[in-house]
Amino acid sequence: MPLVSMRQLLDEAAKGGYGVGAFNVNNMEQIQAIMEAARETKSPVIVQASRGARSYSQDKFLYHLMLAASELYPEIPTVLHLDHGNSFETCKSAIELGFTSVMMDGSLKEDGKTPSTFEENVDVTRRVVDLAHSKGITVEGEIGVLGGIEDGHGAGGTGLEHITDPDQAVEFVDKTGVDALAIAIGTSHGAYKFSKKPDGSVLKMDRLIQIHKRLPQTHLVMHGSSSVPKDLQDIINQYGGKLKPTWGVPVEEIQLGIRNGVRKINVDTDNRLAITGAIRKVFMETPEKFDPRDYMKPAREAMKKVVALRMTQFGQAGHANDYSPISLAEMKKRYESAMAHA
Ligand SMILES: [Zn+2]
Repeated sequence: MPLVSMRQLLDEAAKGGYGVGAFNVNNMEQIQAIMEAARETKSPVIVQASRGARSYSQDKFLYHLMLAASELYPEIPTVLHLDHGNSFETCKSAIELGFTSVMMDGSLKEDGKTPSTFEENVDVTRRVVDLAHSKGITVEGEIGVLGGIEDGHGAGGTGLEHITDPDQAVEFVDKTGVDALAIAIGTSHGAYKFSKKPDGSVLKMDRLIQIHKRLPQTHLVMHGSSSVPKDLQDIINQYGGKLKPTWGVPVEEIQLGIRNGVRKINVDTDNRLAITGAIRKVFMETPEKFDPRDYMKPAREAMKKVVALRMTQFGQAGHANDYSPISLAEMKKRYESAMAHA
């Protein structure tokens, strides 16, 4: 099965009332972990790569690994998505390489750090939508600014400085025609999201629900949505790591989001923790080993477990075979006819 459009996966998720995890990758083992978890749970899949991941892997390696994934797992609808594109050019290069979905994060300027104006965001996102839709490719936009910094991208801060304004969200979707919208509700990138279990003062689920009521047809995206489970932190620290105590986004809050229009949930940190914990354990327990497979294999297995668990918790499990993939050429026609009727 060729790589498919993210729009189709999210439309199906909306019909079925479930969410789809979007897992970040840099290398072969992470892709294998996700695909194995998808096969085991019969889940549709979104694999995503940030700019940092693209440069780490020289992105052609990544792309061809994804082609291998779609060949080896033909029963799994699989999307390759660009996470946090910072400019029209970045998105264009991803589309040219073969990504089937791109995020244009125009909430920040091209430096990936400075918040942009609403008009700048609309302008660059609209241009990416025009290009992407003319090829049947999906676009995720972002309004409001997330906390933290990931891969050098992000405004820093707690995530509460620029939470998404519902009126702006409505205007943004109307003016850009994005397929999916990332909103800022107090989450941050990275491991250190909250200093205690988050409540409504720091994680603004009420704001998400307001936005969904105003934009019931728009697929909402939760970024920075690792749960940072204590058991994964403990494994790292038990085997010589030095993580400070931290809290992520509880799975039950994500599930509340899914009941209120969230269709894509970005998870990276949990997988990083699982991989690192597994590797540390091998290093500490069997320091005589030096074949990378001796620690990459358990690392891959540990990530697979986390991904399979999230797929079940988000509700995507069991839905891989609900539909047959729509070609990008057909998606392009659908966008054209929607434009003609607008
Ligand atoms: Zn993000």
